[in-house]
Amino acid sequence: MPGTLLLTNATIVTLGPTPEVIAGGAIWIENGKIRAFGKSEEVLAQAPPVSKLDLQSRVVMPGQINAHDHLYSAFARGISLKDEAPANFLQILQRLWWRLDQALSSQDCYLSSLLGFTEAVQRGVTTVVDHHASPACIDGSLDRLAEAAQQVGLRACLCYETTDRHGEAGARQGVMENLRFARHCQSSADGRLAAALGLHASITVDSRTLSLALTEWPEDVPVHVHVAEDMCDVEHSLKTYGRPPLQRLLEEGLKDRPVWAAHCIHLQPHEKDLLAVHGVTVMHNPRSNMNNAVGCAPVQELLERGVPVALGTDGMSQDPAEDARALAVIHKHQAADPRGFAWENIYRVAFLEPARLASARFGRKLGVIEVGAEADLMVLDYDPPTPLTGGNFLGHWLFGMGTAPVWGTWVAGDCVFFKGQVAGVDAADLKARCRAAAENLWERW
Ligand SMILES: [Zn+2]
Repeated sequence: MPGTLLLTNATIVTLGPTPEVIAGGAIWIENGKIRAFGKSEEVLAQAPPVSKLDLQSRVVMPGQINAHDHLYSAFARGISLKDEAPANFLQILQRLWWRLDQALSSQDCYLSSLLGFTEAVQRGVTTVVDHHASPACIDGSLDRLAEAAQQVGLRACLCYETTDRHGEAGARQGVMENLRFARHCQSSADGRLAAALGLHASITVDSRTLSLALTEWPEDVPVHVHVAEDMCDVEHSLKTYGRPPLQRLLEEGLKDRPVWAAHCIHLQPHEKDLLAVHGVTVMHNPRSNMNNAVGCAPVQELLERGVPVALGTDGMSQDPAEDARALAVIHKHQAADPRGFAWENIYRVAFLEPARLASARFGRKLGVIEVGAEADLMVLDYDPPTPLTGGNFLGHWLFGMGTAPVWGTWVAGDCVFFKGQVAGVDAADLKARCRAAAENLWERW
């Protein structure tokens, strides 16, 4: 039966609010969900004779969840800019991302996302929340990403980046693509696709576009938007709307809706409270923020106010573990205090909040090993060189386990990556196709 399996001889790391480590454990997966887990003898006593996989003491834990990504950025790897090196964030957008996204074809959207999803499951990622842009081929672009996600077999929450950069017609097309895809997801029943409403940022979404986007958008489906990533967004909003961007967006229609706000670096003091009051979830992307030199989000302050903050990669790579390591150091560095960011906060941002966000969006329990949760799992070739316990899991994750080779990845009990092979993709062939597509893109961008 698909999605039915018994993992034996496992070192189970449950994650969840109180992570536990169970050595000599087993997990019984039935119909894509965890039916039972615990000490091997207890689980084996209840499980029927289904197919067994001996993990030989390897670590099994919930698959990683990437709360903010841009798969379309894949072909920027190794690209040469055509102008002088950008001196600020707006120039990074103008000289790299807005030029690159404009050149993407429908096939580029498919190949870049197929590459990203492939690299994701190779790192044990089972859920990706993406924010897509391809202004020259908007209509149907999310279908191309969905096609790639389904080929690889992981869960993807997709949206199209609505923006005024391409006039009223482009903005309208962006809105319509989000709506079209959201309706498509409602009819797709396997629970691996979900939608959000994508908005670029206050700086490129005027009041008319925002109103158009919100008019037909269901009030219970999240809006995924970049907020105060750089001071240029704040200055523009203050000048144009007389209010900073988060306040502006909330007042112009987002305040009664679920909102995922990426970055939130340059918030005014009262906006930190607005995040808490309106239950906005912040997506934090520390490596991207350092790479763009845009500043450091006030994550500690947000957490103290009860604002949920979930970790993403922002397209820097497909491995959230890398951002977890950055998360663990950037806030201490910023505070110039080794006590500047507590372990509980790292765990919350890297694991608990991405799991909460993904579980809410996909309507099923994700990011934890517990009875009834989805069997979205990764198995790591990690033989701990020091004692591994529930209490010190995070220390292992940050200083060794998070870079350990991934042996296998399962989504809803289906094996999507095993011993170097991605089930739905010939990785060598894909890379050859991507190289050809990237070379072509680099000539015309
Ligand atoms: Zn982003």
